[in-house]
Amino acid sequence: MPPPTGAHIIARSLRDLGVTVIFGIVGIPVVEIAEEAINLGIRFIGFRNEQAASYAASAYGYLTGRPGICLVVGGPGVLHGMAGIGNANVNAFPLLLLAGSSETNLVSRGAFQELDAISLLTPHTKVSLRPPSLESIPDIIQNIYRISWYGRPGTGFVDLPADLIKGVAEDTEDVAPASPVPDAPKAGVEEARMFKIVQLIKSAKAPLVVIGKGAAYAKAEHVIRDLIDKTNLPFLPTPMGKGVVADSHPANTASARSTALKEADVVLVLGARLNWILHFGDAPKWNPVAEFVQVDISAEEIGSNSGNPELGIIGDIGIVISQLTSALGSWSYQTSTPYIQHLSAAKSKNEATAASKASNSRTPMSYAHAFTTIERTLHSLRPPDDAGIVYVSEGANTMDISRSIFPVSHPRLRLDAGTYATMGVGLGYAIAAHAAYNGSAAEGQSGPQERKKVVCLEGDSAFGFSAMEVETMARYGMDILIFVINNGGVYHGDSDDGESWLELQGKTLEGKSEGGLRSTSLGWEVGYEKIAEACGGKGYLVRTSEELERATREGFREGRVCVVNVIVEAGKGQKLEFGWQASGKEKRKKG
Ligand code: ADP
Repeated sequence: MPPPTGAHIIARSLRDLGVTVIFGIVGIPVVEIAEEAINLGIRFIGFRNEQAASYAASAYGYLTGRPGICLVVGGPGVLHGMAGIGNANVNAFPLLLLAGSSETNLVSRGAFQELDAISLLTPHTKVSLRPPSLESIPDIIQNIYRISWYGRPGTGFVDLPADLIKGVAEDTEDVAPASPVPDAPKAGVEEARMFKIVQLIKSAKAPLVVIGKGAAYAKAEHVIRDLIDKTNLPFLPTPMGKGVVADSHPANTASARSTALKEADVVLVLGARLNWILHFGDAPKWNPVAEFVQVDISAEEIGSNSGNPELGIIGDIGIVISQLTSALGSWSYQTSTPYIQHLSAAKSKNEATAASKASNSRTPMSYAHAFTTIERTLHSLRPPDDAGIVYVSEGANTMDISRSIFPVSHPRLRLDAGTYATMGVGLGYAIAAHAAYNGSAAEGQSGPQERKKVVCLEGDSAFGFSAMEVETMARYGMDILIFVINNGGVYHGDSDDGESWLELQGKTLEGKSEGGLRSTSLGWEVGYEKIAEACGGKGYLVRTSEELERATREGFREGRVCVVNVIVEAGKGQKLEFGWQASGKEKRKKG
C-alpha cells in the first residue's frame, strides 16, 4: 500500500467519525478529498453554489442531530460558504466546514485563492483551526467535530492548506485514526430549583408551554408529549417547533397565539430563544407580569431578555422535562378557566376567518386558496397524521401564510427561514432533507430513516436565490416536489394597488412618470417550471385550482424533481411585517 496522502487521511478521519454524506463543491485542491471520500463509501453531494451547500450541511446537522459536513475550496469558496456558517450559528445547528487553502509557503505572495480564512472565520465559529501536520489531522478533525456539536451547536472550521492535502505521510504508524464521538453527556436540574418551578406551574392561572426548534433538535418529543398529555398544559410551537407535539393536539394554541401571549402568566420555554420570533417576551405582546422559565442547553441563554435567571434551567430538554413530569406527579391543569375559554373563543374565530379566506376560488388564485388546494391534495395521497412528508418553506408570504395551512404531526418535518429569516435556504434544505431521510447509506446514528417525500413551498423571490440547485436534485435523482408561488415580486410584488408589472412597463403609466419597476418587482410570469424541464425533471405551469390539484397529484408521484409554477395574484400578498405574525400596529410601510 502506498503511504496515505493528506486527502486520504482527511477522508478516512471523516469516515471513522461515522460521516456518510458530504455537501460541497470541489475545486483544486479539495477535489482530492472528495474523491478519496467517495472511494471510502461516503456520499458526496456536489452543489452549484457553496451558499446552498453550506445551508444544506447545516440543515442536515439539525435533522440528524450530528454535525453536517461541508467541503469547499479556499478564497471564494469560503466566502460563499460563510452563509451557512452564519446560518448554523444563529440557528444552533451543528456544522463542520472543511476548506482548502493555499500552500503554506506561498502565503502573502498572492497565491491561488489565497485568503486568511482562520482570521476571517474565528469570530463566526466555535472553533477554527489548521492542522499543523499530517499526523495531527485525525485528532484535529475529531475535536472540531465534537466542539461544533457539544453544548449549543454551531460551526467548527478546519483550514486545509494544499500542501497538507497533497502531502504524503512518511510513516503510517504515526497517523492515529479518528474515533467516533459519542453523544454529549446530558445535564438535568437540581431538586431545589425544580421544586420552585413545580410550585410556580401549579399556582399558574394561565400557563403556557412554548416549544421551539431546540426541542425538536433535542429529540425531546416523547417526554414533551407525555408532559402535555398528563398535565393539559396549553402549548405553542414556534415555526420549526411544529410537530414536536402534533398540531392537531387539543392543547395547541397556535391559532389563538395572540390571546395566549397576552394572558399567559407562567411560560415554560423549551428550546426557544426569547428573540424577535417570540417578541423578546415583552409587553404588550406578552402579559407584562408573565414569568418565563427557560430550559436551555446554553447557560448564556438563561436570563436573556424577559427570562428570569432565578427560574432558568440549564440542561437537556429531554432530561429536564422527564424530571418535571415526574415532579408534577398526578397534578394537571384544570381547564375550566377563563383563560382556556378565551383561547377556545379566539381559536374558533381565527380558524373561521382562515377558512373563509381559503374558500375564495377566483383566478388568479390567492395564496390561501393555492395552499389549501395543495394541502388537500397531498392529504388525499397521504394521511394527515403520518410522517411521510417534509415541508420546506420560504418567502415572506409563502412561509407565513402556509404555516398554519399545512399541519405537521411529527417533529423535524418542517424547515423554514429560521432565526435569520433567511431567504435562499430552501433548495439546500430540501436536498439535506432528502439526504437525511432517504439516503442510501444508513446514518448509523439515531438519524431519521423512514423514506419521506420532500415538498418545497417557495416564494418566487426565495426560489431565485438557488434555483440552479434544481439541477443538483435532478443529477442525484432526488424526487423533490417544488411549488414556486409566483406573484412576480418580492413580498407583495409590484405595488399595493395591484398594478401589474406589465402596467408598470409603460402600458398604463399615466400619472406615474417615476414609475417603472419597483424595488419589489420581479419578472412577470417567469417560466420557472422550465428550469426543471431543462435539467431532466418535470415542470408544470398552473393558474387554476384544478390545474394545481392535478399537478400536485402527478408531481407527488413523480420519481424525479418537479417544479410547479403556481401563478397567484400579484400585489395582494400579506404586507411586509417584522416579527412572526406581527400585529397591525407593527406593520411597516412599504418601502
Ligand atoms: P426557535 O427558532 O424555534 O424559537 P431557537 O433557535 O431560538 O428556537 O432556540 C433553540 C434553543 O434550543 C437554543 O437556545 C439552543 O441552545 C437550545 N437547545 C438546543 N438543543 C438543546 C437541548 N438538547 N436541550 C436544551 N436546549 C437545547
